[in-house]
Amino acid sequence: MQVTKGVTCPFCGVTCDDLEIHVEDGQIREVKNACSLGRDTFLHHLKGLATPRIDGKAATVDACIEAAAEILARAKYPLIYGLDSTELHAQRKAIELADLIGANIDHTSSICHAPSLQAVQTVGLPTCTMGEVKNRADLVIFWGCNPAEAHPRHATRFSVTPKGMFTPQGRKDRTIIHVDVRKTPSTRMADAFIQIKPHSDYEIFSVLTALVKGHDLDVAEVGGVPMEEWRRLVALMKDADYGILHWGMGLTMTRGRHFNSGAVLALATDLNEFTHFVAKPVRGHGNVTGADNVVSWSTGFPFGINFGRGYPRFNPGEFTTVDLLSRGEADAALIIASDPAANFPKPAVEHLKRIPVIVLDPKASVTGQIAKVAFTTATYGINTGGTVYRMDDVAIALRPAFESPYPSDEEVLTAIKNRVRELLAGSGRAGAPAAQKVA
Ligand code: SF4
Repeated sequence: MQVTKGVTCPFCGVTCDDLEIHVEDGQIREVKNACSLGRDTFLHHLKGLATPRIDGKAATVDACIEAAAEILARAKYPLIYGLDSTELHAQRKAIELADLIGANIDHTSSICHAPSLQAVQTVGLPTCTMGEVKNRADLVIFWGCNPAEAHPRHATRFSVTPKGMFTPQGRKDRTIIHVDVRKTPSTRMADAFIQIKPHSDYEIFSVLTALVKGHDLDVAEVGGVPMEEWRRLVALMKDADYGILHWGMGLTMTRGRHFNSGAVLALATDLNEFTHFVAKPVRGHGNVTGADNVVSWSTGFPFGINFGRGYPRFNPGEFTTVDLLSRGEADAALIIASDPAANFPKPAVEHLKRIPVIVLDPKASVTGQIAKVAFTTATYGINTGGTVYRMDDVAIALRPAFESPYPSDEEVLTAIKNRVRELLAGSGRAGAPAAQKVA
């Protein structure tokens, strides 16, 4: 039995790096320290495994690379999408490839926290690490998120129960508030629950900001909650030594979107006139925070980027994947570690079915079923090393438990990029903007 300690879980943005994995005969037999989501990630990472294939028939990796490169070299409006469930070096390769072929590149933040990323770029981010939350926060507000189900160890590692430097009594040293449109399992962690009307977040944050700045309002309720309750919350926020507001998709994907996230950030900023107050989105799947970071530092923009003119352009609604596919615009798609055919709206999925799709995924997926070229890749974090970003933008190293017979995402993307470069050079189209390519 081979035992690997200090393994990083790749499933959610808590990015727990204290797991212990027991492997025997190439099979994971035991997973220690993980939550149930993390355990399933490791124990079932080979479930539904498919082989590399072209047009549904088994093929070699080399044949898949050739077929994928030919599709991407010919495409006039290629799309690269996914990127959340892979590591940093593969994400960088995907951006290099997008630059080479003049592609549109987007990742899964586009359908979750894109409004938060837009707000951060306009308002700024009063930020912190999760270590600071553990050691200092005495007021934790969860707004429109459900970490008890989506990020099970968030509460025990950082935000609710752990004992920290300035929170030596753990849970007893913290006040926890949960705000949402309905009760969830996270409500049980809280000292108080505030139930608001759906789509009222922006209105509420406007009122909270007014109260923080000393303006009272002559109204009985806001967002279905009596004003008195909002006055009590503002008093709690001002009295805290260190407050944090964590928000989720209950805020970003409701009416107001990036205005909601911007209002949270502006409120947290204003509170710093009275105490130390920060705000952090609870980020979900895998290494989506890494995708934000890598795409932002490489292109200057956080998601939905188009290289069609030879330089990066950013325009949510135009270059975001659901919008682009729903309008029938891309003529080829490279999907990396994601399954858009399983969760995108019907018009977007219908267009994916009409164009050649290349998929990189360790598991069988719905998108893999419609793919012209499908690569089976090693599972990041379990079979490959590299780096991921925790939800607080802290880089964490991966520590693979055992090797996979399949190539990593980075290896496949590097091979595709090199072959595309050769094809473009051979046709005299190297460096040409996508619109100038000849089919
Ligand atoms: S909380 Fe998230 S990162 Fe930690 S073990 Fe559970 S699924 Fe994995």
